[in-house]
Amino acid sequence: MKNRKVTYRLYPNKKQVEHLAEMLALHQRVYNAALEERIRLYRDENKSLSFADQCKALTTWRHTYKELANLNAQSLQVTLKRLDLAFQSFFRRVKKGDKPGFPRFKSLQRHRGWGYKTHGDGWRLFPGEKNDKHGQLRISGIGMITMRGRARSLGEPKTCEILHRSGKWYVSVTLACNPERTSGTKAIGLDWGIEKFLTTHDSKQETKQIENPRYVKSALKQLKLLQQSVARKTNKQSCRRKKTIKSLAKLHSQLARRRKDFHHQEAAKLVKENGLIAVEALSIRAMTQSGGSRKKGLNREILSTAPAQFHQLLKSKAEEAGIIWIEIPTQIVKPSQTCYQCKTQKKKTLSERWHSCPCGASCLRDENSARVVLDYALRKVSGQELAEAGSRGCFATLNRETHAIS
Ligand SMILES: [Zn+2]
Repeated sequence: MKNRKVTYRLYPNKKQVEHLAEMLALHQRVYNAALEERIRLYRDENKSLSFADQCKALTTWRHTYKELANLNAQSLQVTLKRLDLAFQSFFRRVKKGDKPGFPRFKSLQRHRGWGYKTHGDGWRLFPGEKNDKHGQLRISGIGMITMRGRARSLGEPKTCEILHRSGKWYVSVTLACNPERTSGTKAIGLDWGIEKFLTTHDSKQETKQIENPRYVKSALKQLKLLQQSVARKTNKQSCRRKKTIKSLAKLHSQLARRRKDFHHQEAAKLVKENGLIAVEALSIRAMTQSGGSRKKGLNREILSTAPAQFHQLLKSKAEEAGIIWIEIPTQIVKPSQTCYQCKTQKKKTLSERWHSCPCGASCLRDENSARVVLDYALRKVSGQELAEAGSRGCFATLNRETHAIS
């Protein structure tokens, strides 16, 4: 069984919109009140509140405030849990010596929604009869809301989140399901670059490049114009400013949606054709942290192609299909600096796009990296190095371990 998220767009009527907005405001107030409690108790009595303490306090609040008594108890706990998680990650960053941001009070705009823990407790999903398309969602206190969307694999609803984004309402449902996915028999090494989204090299000695989708560039231009327009409108109350902010948010979500679609499609293709996928272990931080203003544009390019999201999607699809997934320890292998033919290491700057080596190897920099990644992975899976590598944590096979690689 595997958990999958499906997001449906909700189409509430006018009255339901009012109710949803009320609920959102109540959850926001609970979040902020709980945060205030934690701060006050720490400041005045030097005590820390735990999630369990706050759940107890919630019961008292629900007795005192009628509006809260009408809300689903579990969903309020989920809101408290979110605050608790915000604190946990804050303390984790403090411990690690990073720059921590203290959990903030949330404005209504920044408050994205609320969640439910158990199907049937406060919410129920009624998927449409045709291919599980569309359907209805019942939320206690609101009633039946029409929804549109489609689950790719049928499954049992587990938890859900009600989301409010750029004036629209959504429900994101976690389904436990058994997705079926077929795979191929080739082995492939991946390298993501800046100019090209992805360069691959496979065991049939084929090299392919996948372009960055064009809309990213055009959207960036549009984003910049809108951002400047917001910056010029200094009166925070002005309607035109609010309107511009709204279209900016719309563009952002449009872009994110299209990019995710693109990632889904490319990842599905790769899994369908291969039985082994080798990638570099990814650290976005390493890619974006250093570098001053000169690198800002570049960082944006890297982030706009969102390798982390793609990496995640590809990995979960590989898992579903039960193929071999190998993450290469970049620090040890150094794919961009190693020659795929003679294995000599030589430093390259970011602007060097061509790999040429005294040994005679000559190809695109990204192709060389993909070849090194694949080569390393294949050496790891042949023979007993497999177990060793696994124990060092730089290697992971999924579900099935024996797979025909041609
Ligand atoms: Zn060489």
